[in-house]
Amino acid sequence: MNLTAPSEVKALLAQLEFRPSKVLGQNFLIDSNILRILVATADLQPGDAVIEIGPGLGVLTECLVSNAGRVVAIEKDRRLAAHLRERFRETANLELIEADALDVDLNKHLAGGCSKVVANLPYSVASRLLVDLAEAPKRPRQMVVTVQNEVADRLTAKADTDDYGLLSVILQLRYDISVRKEVSPSCFYPPPEVKSAIVNMILREPAVQPVNYNQFKELLKLCFSKRRKQLGGILRKRFPQVETTLPSLGLDLRSRPETLNPEQWVRLSNALCCTVGGRDA
Ligand code: SAM
Repeated sequence: MNLTAPSEVKALLAQLEFRPSKVLGQNFLIDSNILRILVATADLQPGDAVIEIGPGLGVLTECLVSNAGRVVAIEKDRRLAAHLRERFRETANLELIEADALDVDLNKHLAGGCSKVVANLPYSVASRLLVDLAEAPKRPRQMVVTVQNEVADRLTAKADTDDYGLLSVILQLRYDISVRKEVSPSCFYPPPEVKSAIVNMILREPAVQPVNYNQFKELLKLCFSKRRKQLGGILRKRFPQVETTLPSLGLDLRSRPETLNPEQWVRLSNALCCTVGGRDA
């Protein structure tokens, strides 16, 4: 079966009496060039163990099991999971999990050796899954994922741009992120309403680590919820010491949240958490 041939995908869906769900983001990849780029970008080796979220009909899964040592694929849709179980019943290096990826203990699989994530992510949960993966104690070495353009823009946004926000800071702190290829809706069946992009994320060591990650994230949430306000104004009440902390870091009390790069956020969080006066710190 050639799942990059639209006619074969349509025939398979008809045979399974399957109507793709918009809510589950069931847009199946039918473009062999995009598939090739996804797999080549992941640079899979026989020693690699890979997590795939949302295998769908298995077009990417097939390439992953051929190129990697082991694949853990997590599919929420019961009927697709049943189809995959049958289709890959003789594939020893595939572990298929029928579940919502948000409910799966990804840490267990990451700790168990999965060091890459390769997926056409279901759009509704893409950002949340990427944050969970980037915050895992043993985060993946590389993630190659297709996401909708708007998410790709936020993942790669530089400080001082409209798209820069919580997602950018959290992911960029741990990963070097680049867009590998834009993907047109016609590369999927049925075509989604928006364009997508293949994003490549390579784990990096940040220059400075958050001393207290929860406080770091709370600080980001607080500040980005008021992104047009000045940092001094946002933080003064809760952290009176901000009057001296910000200038000591070379930051202006009038700076707006969107102007700080990820390392500056870590330095600010560490400084606030380590100086006297931070309430609820
Ligand atoms: N990988 C396939 C491909 O490239 O053709 C399908 C990709 S499709 C964009 C997204 C897939 O994720 C669908 O199979 C859908 O059923 C599945 N899915 C949606 N939400 C999910 C979730 N929360 N957990 C696991 N799978 C999910």
